Amino acid sequence: MEKTLVLIKPDAVEQNIIGNIISLYEEANLKVIALKMEKVSRETAETHYKEHKGKVFYQELIDFITRSPICALILEGENCIAKVREINGATKPEEQKPGTIRKKYAKGITENCVHASDSLESSKREIKIWFPNFKGE
Ligand code: GDP
Repeated sequence: MEKTLVLIKPDAVEQNIIGNIISLYEEANLKVIALKMEKVSRETAETHYKEHKGKVFYQELIDFITRSPICALILEGENCIAKVREINGATKPEEQKPGTIRKKYAKGITENCVHASDSLESSKREIKIWFPNFKGE
């Protein structure tokens, strides 16, 4: 079964909406199969966001994701990579559809509440970063 990696980012944890966010995934028939909460090290943040290194927003992104605890989850379900991206909403605020998590709760392009893997390849890479002991393809 397809899996994806989700991060509930510091701004969402600070807003007390972890439960609201997880409910939206569960209501879409996706199953939480791993979950943890931690304050992210710069090293892990840099590994996770390595494709953005050198971009103008990179430092702001690393500062943000490391500022207070996040919640990391693995979700499982049919077509879950695309489903979760749809539930989360677009990267650009002007493209976020009503009802998406980002449209409802994001404060801007950086403080946007959630991350989710964007492909099968990135889900495999990201699950290894956040849950190195997770067994089961
Ligand atoms: P996502 O999959 O929608 O989270 O987007 P990406 O993986 O492409 O980018 C990671 C994060 O970097 C996004 O969630 C944004 O917070 C941030 N980001 C991406 N593009 C931009 C940009 O053009 N400007 C700024 N300020 N931040 C950006």
